[in-house]
Amino acid sequence: MIDPGAIQQVKDAMRVEEVVGLFVNLKRKGPRYLGLCPFHNEKTPSFNVSPALGIFKCFGCAAAGDAISFLEKHEHLTYLEAIRWLAKHYNIALPEQETTPEQDTERSERESLGVVQNYALKWSMEQLWETEEGQRIGLAYFRERGFQDRTIRTFQLGYVPEGGDAFARAAATAGFDPDLLDKAGWTKRREDGSAWDFFAGRVTFPILGLSGSPVAFGARTLRGDKKLPKYFNSPESVLYNKSRSLYGLALARKAIAEQQLCYLVEGYTDVISLHQAGIANVVASSGTSLTADQVRLIKRYAKQVTILYDGDSAGIKASLRGMDLLLVEGLQVRAALFPDGEDPDSFARNRPSSEVASFLASAAKDVIAFKADLLLKEVGSDPMQRAAAIHEVVESIALVPDHVLRSLYVQECSRLFGVAEQALLSEMNKVLRQQRRKQFAVGEADPPAMDALPPAAQPPPENPGTKPQERELLRLVLNYGHREVGTLHTRIDASAETRPRTVAEWIFAELESEGMHVSDEAVHLALQHYRTLWAPDRSVDIKVYLDQAPEAMRMLASQLLVDPHVLSDNWKSKKIHVHREEEHLYNTVERSLLRYKERYTDELLEKNLKELEHADDDRQLELQQERMALQAFRRTLSGLSGRIIAG
Ligand SMILES: [Zn+2]
Repeated sequence: MIDPGAIQQVKDAMRVEEVVGLFVNLKRKGPRYLGLCPFHNEKTPSFNVSPALGIFKCFGCAAAGDAISFLEKHEHLTYLEAIRWLAKHYNIALPEQETTPEQDTERSERESLGVVQNYALKWSMEQLWETEEGQRIGLAYFRERGFQDRTIRTFQLGYVPEGGDAFARAAATAGFDPDLLDKAGWTKRREDGSAWDFFAGRVTFPILGLSGSPVAFGARTLRGDKKLPKYFNSPESVLYNKSRSLYGLALARKAIAEQQLCYLVEGYTDVISLHQAGIANVVASSGTSLTADQVRLIKRYAKQVTILYDGDSAGIKASLRGMDLLLVEGLQVRAALFPDGEDPDSFARNRPSSEVASFLASAAKDVIAFKADLLLKEVGSDPMQRAAAIHEVVESIALVPDHVLRSLYVQECSRLFGVAEQALLSEMNKVLRQQRRKQFAVGEADPPAMDALPPAAQPPPENPGTKPQERELLRLVLNYGHREVGTLHTRIDASAETRPRTVAEWIFAELESEGMHVSDEAVHLALQHYRTLWAPDRSVDIKVYLDQAPEAMRMLASQLLVDPHVLSDNWKSKKIHVHREEEHLYNTVERSLLRYKERYTDELLEKNLKELEHADDDRQLELQQERMALQAFRRTLSGLSGRIIAG
């Protein structure tokens, strides 16, 4: 396990705005950051990050937490995986105790596969740079195709010897479980159980997860044998889902977010060559045609995508579907076609960076015009084919969610095809109606435009009991626990003493004096956690509170924390509310305590009534007496709350 001291070191080092900023395009707004929430679909940002509190919070879907819970939620990591991720990011050594092979197998498969891929990455790079065969074959190949040594190192390219089981033997010596090597895609087994290297004689292209660790590999053969597949890829695993990963994204995402533009290419080498030519905002959907998940991944970082197509138009028609996927997601899509016979790789390799950049700038065409051009070239003057081409373009336009943009496209299309705008519009309306019908057909519903996430707003339970009031009290404790409100009268011997009383002290005392039991387990634990850190004369540091709280509690607490600066602009009414609350803390606490007591008493009354229905005579008498006492207490509370509201 990881040393707790090191975990603390990680927590001290982590900056929520930095971590979240890697995945969400954040804009600074005064003391906070604002961006589009990655956990629900939104157009106006309501996702806030507060460096001061070390938390993020979405006012749209209530997602909230710290850097660790962000990684857990966003990257689907476990707590320990998130800690490791952060340690790597902040260059903090995590001393882990030596593990036995038995303990190794107990580790989650995901972690174990990660360890294998990391080992394989290092090993394949060593083979490339430090062995005679690697230099003579692998390195020579990369250099020959124009990759500079620095580029080869940046992309961590590697080599697997031709021998057949070099990796299998090395990994066995290093103590790896053979089954795990199979799962990671590095070895295959013969009938007799002996292992052979799946990537033997190939150069390797590691595919990195967003944390920068390898999750899979692509491997290219260097033999001229046409029967061999040019590329092999790692199989999918718990670590690697090819339809949800993009080659190069770990290296490119910063540039993509900065430029708000992502270039999309086909292969590993396209990404690498363009990167070498100074175009850093480029990714490839290698190993698969573009998927909706990949599109959403891009959308996290940029609104504009330019697809770069090879010079031969054969592949283009096949990838037109990818274009549509981008349009559906509301991205601004452009496309550029490389000159005949060139692909991004060859083009970038043979030209100075400045020429590559200016070519990309000038060749990128709006995608609808691009598609229209492409189809028009094919159909010539045949009217039937022309009509079919127009219909195809209109189908793409109909996918654009923004209706203003859609009508601009219709205008453009009308100009390109020489067809009346009105005719195109009625054609498009027909397509839209069809799409809608399809969408509402049973079982055909389009998936929501988001990654699969739990729905944000769950219907409230039938009877929430005192839970909302309990949460409110916890909220007050967390936000204003150390604030002084009113005075406390203490009686020691005969002399009365007064001293300032804090919000936490007041609430804790009231809860105790009435013998009330907090029914919500999470709230109960969160309050207790606060008490362990709290003393009447000492305020609780909320950062420490969050740091030491277990996962579930951290989530709850983050949701309840209100940083006036964290509130989003379109949350004006709440801002005013917070303002008032701070000014009238005494009233707020008093009212919240009263509401809690009222609700608590109501609950007791309900329980009493239920029991009364089935009680025997003796018990009935008892219950009726209890009922009267409760009702009297309830009236007192009503009187008090009436006074408070009136005051
Ligand atoms: Zn949200």
